[in-house]
Amino acid sequence: PVVTRFAPSPTGFLHIGGARTALFNWLYARGRGGKFLLRIEDTDRARSSDDATQAIFAGLRWLGLDWDGDAVSQASRAARHVEVAHAMLASGAAYKCFSTQEDIEAFRETARAEGRSTLFRSPWRDADPATHPDAPYAIRVKAPLDGKTVIADRVQGDVVIANDQLDDMICLRSDGSPTYMLAVVVDDHDMRITHVIRGDDHLNNTARQMLVYAAMGWDVPIYAHIPLIHGEDGKKLSKRHGALGIEEYAAMGYPAAAVRNYLTRLGWSHGDDEVFTTEQAKDWFDLKGIGKSPARLDFKKLDHISGQHMGMLDDDTLIAGLRAWQSAARLPEMDQATEDALRPALPLVKSSAKTFPELLEKAHFALATRPIALEPKAAKQLGPASIGILSELTPHLQTASWDRDTLEATASKLAESHGVGLGKIAGPLRAALAGRTASPSVFDMMIVVGRDETLARIGDAVR
Ligand code: GLU
Repeated sequence: PVVTRFAPSPTGFLHIGGARTALFNWLYARGRGGKFLLRIEDTDRARSSDDATQAIFAGLRWLGLDWDGDAVSQASRAARHVEVAHAMLASGAAYKCFSTQEDIEAFRETARAEGRSTLFRSPWRDADPATHPDAPYAIRVKAPLDGKTVIADRVQGDVVIANDQLDDMICLRSDGSPTYMLAVVVDDHDMRITHVIRGDDHLNNTARQMLVYAAMGWDVPIYAHIPLIHGEDGKKLSKRHGALGIEEYAAMGYPAAAVRNYLTRLGWSHGDDEVFTTEQAKDWFDLKGIGKSPARLDFKKLDHISGQHMGMLDDDTLIAGLRAWQSAARLPEMDQATEDALRPALPLVKSSAKTFPELLEKAHFALATRPIALEPKAAKQLGPASIGILSELTPHLQTASWDRDTLEATASKLAESHGVGLGKIAGPLRAALAGRTASPSVFDMMIVVGRDETLARIGDAVR
């Protein structure tokens, strides 16, 4: 069975790269009936915070990425990490290193001066235990001195690293604390992770982490190192690219389903499919479709995908999404009366909105209350001739059957009798109903607001 994980360090919000890594792992597991686990890599106590952990949870929840079981705290597993370091020591795969920071610096100094590699070679690697001082020591894993390590990566292909490039990495520091490099391996093993999908900035660590697997006789997971995300300019992501935190996408009012779709396409492809549901993504997602070069952020594409998703969402999901946006953007929560007024307008406006604020804006006619405020351009639509024609229309609207076709036919007939186009009635009608010159179709708006409100708004306009 497939088991994947997302293993963020809680040092900040959930950034877009991390969110995509989480999403890929989630899709891979969920599409295969597997498990998706969450591990908070909080071993760096100084840089980790509970606020960051909560922000990561919130970001994942907003994106709809549910994890199995409770999130695992890496720091809480320190005793187990220590145990493994000592097991390697006992088997001879690791050794006690008494070199101090000063010793290591001095080694590097000399190596530099002599033009040799500055990769630290501990003099304690093969020292006779009888010569060991009674002093604090680090535990280092013995890296092979020759040969090569091959990472059979599912994205990068075989990545070959000469073993003489690997140092004897520290697993346990001289203060007794386990290193991240040890912890990540022990945790992945104990959590029975089968696939490690993570950023390719970890590729260099992987060869060293494989030493621990080898030392413990554990199976190495399947690796897939994905290229990082770049900005629209092709450069590495940085603050100036903007919108780095997933919560910013929530606050801008993109539906989570659209951001999921967009992030899925960021570095992964399935033929020419651009817009798809999460169910389809789960079915289709695989490691073969992950590209080898960095994907670029593209806000135009996000807008396009988002617009398509808006039109696909059902009313309940739209309302829930609107509320989630208002909370993310720290706006006042929508009251029940607003929701009730909005619901019937949703089918009319959702296909032309890309975000929730746009959806609200387009549904303005349904939410506005009398007297409808007129934009200057709309006010110009309501000259004497228009007022005359709207007054004439009123008695017809009092008795007409209230459906789109009848309403349109009624207005057309009146326009014909005046020898003018339908626009000469629809324009003023739009102004009276919405107070604007841009809105959904007037007849659709009339259905949504109903006969009484329509007549009242026309009444206000012709008064
Ligand atoms: N905690 C690491 C990070 O935030 C991830 C390590 C991993 O996925 O193996 O970059």
